[in-house]
Amino acid sequence: MLDFTSYAEQVYQRCDELAEISQDRQCLDRRYLTPQHIAANQLVAKWCKEAGMNTWQDQAGNQWGCYASDNRDAPAIVLGSHLDTVPNGGKYDGMLGVLLPISLIQYFHDNNMKFPFHIEVVGFGDEEGTRFGSTLLGSQAVAGHWQDKWASLMDSNEICLGQAMREAGLDINQVHKASKEGGNIEAFIEVHIEQGPVLESKNLAVGVVTGIAGAQRFNIQVNGMAGHAGTVPMAMRQDAVNAASEMALCIENAALEFGVVATVGKMNTLPGAVNVIANKVEFSLDIRSEYDDLRNKALAAIQEKIAEIETRRQVSVKWNETHSADAVMCDENLKEQLMQATAQCQQSAFELPSGAGHDAMAMASLCPVAMLFMRCEKGISHHPDEAIKASDIDVTLAVLNQFLINKSAMYDKVEYDNALIA
Ligand SMILES: [Zn+2]
Repeated sequence: MLDFTSYAEQVYQRCDELAEISQDRQCLDRRYLTPQHIAANQLVAKWCKEAGMNTWQDQAGNQWGCYASDNRDAPAIVLGSHLDTVPNGGKYDGMLGVLLPISLIQYFHDNNMKFPFHIEVVGFGDEEGTRFGSTLLGSQAVAGHWQDKWASLMDSNEICLGQAMREAGLDINQVHKASKEGGNIEAFIEVHIEQGPVLESKNLAVGVVTGIAGAQRFNIQVNGMAGHAGTVPMAMRQDAVNAASEMALCIENAALEFGVVATVGKMNTLPGAVNVIANKVEFSLDIRSEYDDLRNKALAAIQEKIAEIETRRQVSVKWNETHSADAVMCDENLKEQLMQATAQCQQSAFELPSGAGHDAMAMASLCPVAMLFMRCEKGISHHPDEAIKASDIDVTLAVLNQFLINKSAMYDKVEYDNALIA
């Protein structure tokens, strides 16, 4: 394996440097279209230029760099992730997927390496959706899915997206120009920290993502009958807490049976008094799988079981869906190419699904997408304790390098074959 130690060190240090740009002095918080977002773009652009790229910020506030091929008509391979964070976030979620490709291109630039395709780097302005409550704004603009109604989305200070764009020096009437629909993009590859504990448990630096889970969320309301904790006999109760608890356990069982993940993360009991049988419980359900049919089957089983509990316990249940997104599979060819490159640089190539959403979901409607996950300590993310190892960056740089070298060789082969035909 090639030695990328000094470039890995550069990525590691730049993650620290970028994390200094925050709208909150106490913690890392960088949201879409803030002065800190634009400052982060400028720093990223400076690093892109040092690596021999030309740079631009698009009309949606995404930062781009291009390491151009000598063939002007060549397609582009886009590498990137997002530059925004959650409030009190970590230094690597998103940023790693922008800074790691820049340092790899720095290596190409230092060694005068050229490719038969353009290599573009993108830092999306909004993935987390923490300012306007709508996620993936940056990558959706690039994928050509910007919706005009988003102009009136409000942040917590009553500033609408249109005004925020103006304040950031952008024009919302031009935002459609950020779309790359119809552009010559061969692939989008996103490097991201895993945000889970699987790679750590396998003792691997890098894994290849099979697909990004689809998800549905519900608010479920259970209505029973309030009563005195001392006077109503157990057999005569319509206890909403006990009904909801049984429902939560049947959700866990269904998830295990169908191989999906399902979570009851919020539960609220009313009236919420120690000596009163609760008459109302509201709880959340978040159910995900990279296979939509499995998720649908698990959900149907949960709904059937909850209906049975509803009848038996004489409560009434109301479902309210709050979110729904289908799964996105990574491109089979790209995934195989990343697996091959991983096998060349790490003792074994390993596949895993992504339970969290990513920019690659939006980009999938534009071009074939694939993802590399890098191990992060204890799987922690969206928290200042997010941690990675420089030695893992080293391996990830080697894998991405190998992937691009292998791609380049495929181009050369096609050219050679065409020459033979001619
Ligand atoms: Zn992220």
